[in-house]
Amino acid sequence: MSLYVLTGGAGFIGSHLADSLLAGGHQVRVVDDLSTGHRRNLDPRVELLVGDIADPALVGRALQGAAGVFHLAAIASVARSNEDWSGTHRVNQTGSITVLDAARQQGRIPVVYASSAAIYGDQGESPIDEAASPAPNTAYGADKLGSELHARVAFHVHRVPTMGFRFFNVFGPRQDPASPYSGVISIFAARIAAGQPLTLHGDGLQTRDFVYVEDVVRHLRAGMEVLHAAPQATVLNVCTGRATSVLELAQALARIDGRPLAMSFGPSRAGDIRASLGNPAAASAVLGVRATTGLETGLAATVRSMAAA
Ligand code: NAD
Repeated sequence: MSLYVLTGGAGFIGSHLADSLLAGGHQVRVVDDLSTGHRRNLDPRVELLVGDIADPALVGRALQGAAGVFHLAAIASVARSNEDWSGTHRVNQTGSITVLDAARQQGRIPVVYASSAAIYGDQGESPIDEAASPAPNTAYGADKLGSELHARVAFHVHRVPTMGFRFFNVFGPRQDPASPYSGVISIFAARIAAGQPLTLHGDGLQTRDFVYVEDVVRHLRAGMEVLHAAPQATVLNVCTGRATSVLELAQALARIDGRPLAMSFGPSRAGDIRASLGNPAAASAVLGVRATTGLETGLAATVRSMAAA
């Protein structure tokens, strides 16, 4: 049994990872300021330290005795990153450096961290792989890219093993539809559950690579194992390689709901990316893991969890 520290562990993705680590017999310590995460997401066996990820004293204390760190804490909102530019930078990039520095000081603890497909910027229709030139067009994407560069420094200068995961559009239970940072799937699923019509921005033909949260957790855990076996600094996509339009998504949710779909088209949103699609080949080669949950299976689990809530 090992102790793992999860920053942002009270959030959507982090709380699923906490459940998986506990089920594997590990101890879990979470550092979270509960700005979007919730205590109710966490199993009572989790040790929760409430505080700020950019606080070196807190993070240093939190990492004591840890076998590894999963760094997921961030302000996960593109809109907020553009409005509160320096405030978001403090959390999303200085926070990452704080974690990497504490991992160095506590004896080079391996760090698996959340990056984002946002580092690629506007991608076009073909599946993008890790060799593509990063071109973030948001403050959020720029800070995620900056965190990747510091994670590289952490390994090459300080020998701290690091693995960054460029998540595409993650979905599943516990993604909070009421949060201003929420994804389209949880918003649509909540509206359908409440019998409300959906509004699609633009023509609804913008596409995304939707990846189910349990598949993301399998990538994170495999990444930690790889770092323990072979210290390195690597970044990998976490995606399915399948493009789904927002319109197809709405139709799939309506099929699950079993009622006719009520929807309307609104104006497109400024800065909305037209297509986002990842190539999962490198993650599959390095980790031996693929995102295998079918979209409809994942959607059905998400809808069920909302009905139960
Ligand atoms: P989330 O908002 O549910 O989780 C983020 C967690 O970080 C929350 O629990 C929040 O309270 C915590 N947090 C925020 N600021 C903090 C601070 N200053 N100090 C301590 N804790 C703080 O979001 P999520 O979807 O679970 O995202 C997890 C990670 O994955 C984030 O780094 C996010 O940028 C990244 N990511 C998510 C997606 C997605 O589709 N959900 C896509 C790409 C990248």
